[in-house]
Amino acid sequence: MEKISLDSRIVEVEKISFEEQNETSLRPSVWEDYIGQEQIKKNLQIFIQASKKRQECLDHILFFGPPGLGKTTLSHIIASEMGADIKVTAAPMIEKSGDLAAILTNLNQGDILFIDEIHRLSPAIEEILYPAMEDFRLDIIIGSGPAAQSVKIDIAQFTLIGATTRAGMLSNPLRDRFGMNFRLQFYTHQELAQILSKASIKLGKALHPKGAQEIAKRSRGTPRIALRLLKRVRDFADVAEEHEITFERAQFALTELGVNEYGFDELDLRYLNILAQNQGRAIGLSTLSAAMSEDESTIEDVIEPYLLANGYFERTAKGRMATAKTLGLFGSHQGSLF
Ligand code: ADP
Repeated sequence: MEKISLDSRIVEVEKISFEEQNETSLRPSVWEDYIGQEQIKKNLQIFIQASKKRQECLDHILFFGPPGLGKTTLSHIIASEMGADIKVTAAPMIEKSGDLAAILTNLNQGDILFIDEIHRLSPAIEEILYPAMEDFRLDIIIGSGPAAQSVKIDIAQFTLIGATTRAGMLSNPLRDRFGMNFRLQFYTHQELAQILSKASIKLGKALHPKGAQEIAKRSRGTPRIALRLLKRVRDFADVAEEHEITFERAQFALTELGVNEYGFDELDLRYLNILAQNQGRAIGLSTLSAAMSEDESTIEDVIEPYLLANGYFERTAKGRMATAKTLGLFGSHQGSLF
């Protein structure tokens, strides 16, 4: 079989517009299809019920968590449960205060405004958001110099849902204005296997439970990665003219795709290798970034959260340090890991 070469990181979780379009078809739209995050689901269901009873807008909500864990999906389900329209945007798209003012003045009563990567809003734009969130009012300065005038405009009551991969980068005044904060967790293999089984039905491709387990195991606890891998493994099964994705096909395809049995891809391996080689000594983020030729934000947002949550390294005041787990793994499996 011809080897499929990938020019992008297969476990990359940044949103690509094509992939995003593709994702929409697999995105759950009801609670029953949204697997895992049980505590968050339970709480949200109560808050939604309460605000519907009082016929009020839902309080503003903030979701924290690495990319691909289901923040956007949750927001869509909330909107549909509230019977509200949802407008989706991302902080980097809001460059000028006028952009945000235009979005806010176009909202209707009860609408939901979803702002992805909300930690990237500029301070000037955050300032506009505060009165909008608290009093549903815009304070805008028109003109400049002595002729500048402050204008107050009432806007419709709305719910802001902010999503961020970096809890620590959000300014305190902004964080304080959200009535609810939720931190999404990585998914268990079982939960991911369930997500994969549901998705395979939507894709019209049979998936053997052991095949699902194998993909789940290598998906870094992240539904977006699991679904992306499922599609690639399906390609292998289709080319081999197999009507079902088996354990063997999944294992073969994932290895061909460069995703090893721990779900590590080449970037993870490079990262852990640098730490492991530095046995016992901490390495700073900027050094790691230079050694890997990767941005610090890619390292912090994409590579580290899963490795940290699973105990592959620890953060100390001096920097990142490999744990015994990583040192053991790299010592005994050196051959298979590289
Ligand atoms: P985020 O906004 O956190 O980056 P998304 O909400 O875009 O993540 O989720 C990525 C994809 O993973 C979605 O298209 C959706 O199909 C799937 N997904 C995420 N969370 C779940 C879940 N809990 N159950 C089922 N599918 C999920």
